[in-house]
Amino acid sequence: MGQPRYIAVDIGASKTRIALCDGSRILDKVVFSTPRTGDSRTIAEAIVSKTIEKWREELGSIEAVGVASIGPLDLERGRVVKTPNLPFEEIELLEPLSRMLGVKVYVVNDAVAGAWGEKHFGAGRHVRNLLYVTLSTGVGGGVVVDNHLLLGKQGNAHEIGHIVVDYDSDLRCGCGGYGHWEAYAGGGNLPRVALWLLEKNPGLYRGSVLAERLRSGIQVTSVDVFSLYRAGDPLAADVVGHYIRATAAGLASAINVYDPELVIIGGGVFLNNADILLKPVKRRVLKEIVTRPPIIQPTSLGDDVGLYGALAIAVEPPPELLEAQGRSFHQG
Ligand SMILES: [Zn+2]
Repeated sequence: MGQPRYIAVDIGASKTRIALCDGSRILDKVVFSTPRTGDSRTIAEAIVSKTIEKWREELGSIEAVGVASIGPLDLERGRVVKTPNLPFEEIELLEPLSRMLGVKVYVVNDAVAGAWGEKHFGAGRHVRNLLYVTLSTGVGGGVVVDNHLLLGKQGNAHEIGHIVVDYDSDLRCGCGGYGHWEAYAGGGNLPRVALWLLEKNPGLYRGSVLAERLRSGIQVTSVDVFSLYRAGDPLAADVVGHYIRATAAGLASAINVYDPELVIIGGGVFLNNADILLKPVKRRVLKEIVTRPPIIQPTSLGDDVGLYGALAIAVEPPPELLEAQGRSFHQG
């Protein structure tokens, strides 16, 4: 019998990462584009075939598999339902993975996993209360209160991206609501925020390259918005201004609700622009909270935060998850 091994899986809208781990470290990993065609089992099948191809010799030592996935989740059945970010009605994970790999599998929302990963392997090891926020294509959160990972009735607790940060706003969120944090600060929404500002004040952005691109119908991304901001573009500056104010409002609301000692921020859009965003966000948060201020810092786990979260879930599944998914073991 070799050392116990774990498989950690992080399913994102664009990339899926799989890692072979021991109880506390990533030993080896593989990254591939998340399939966008096929059926509800295609993603699970891709995960299994990559795992077998890469780590055939280790298969007998695998204790459990942890999956951190884009949501929303149906926790009990361990599947993703009607995600806005991938073209599948359903993504079956728990059942096909546990059947094909013959081990226990646990599936949680990626931001929830991030919180558990920070608690076990990141900056959260020494605190009892932490909030993990991911600021990426979308905005998500995971919370540990009194050492207890919050899951909710279907594993979708703390969908904090849909906190209303402006109740009077006419900026529509991808979910259909108005004035949500994610509408202003989801990386995928930044071009829409720019367009929304431009339509409101057509005369205001003379000389803006971003405005010019939008008017000509050229596609822009969040990366373009931030690089134009750095180049002094006035429309990009207003988009980033909204990003900062919405993020501060959302974070302050979550801090007031959960009273964390530590707030950890991850996600590519934030991490790539932390030099611009962190200070003004922190300054504004401090004005809006009533609790003793928490430490607010970027994740130290980088791109691997989802994998560490999945690993933490596999090594130490919280009791509620065991209850919901503990019957998942199918002898292969
Ligand atoms: Zn929303």
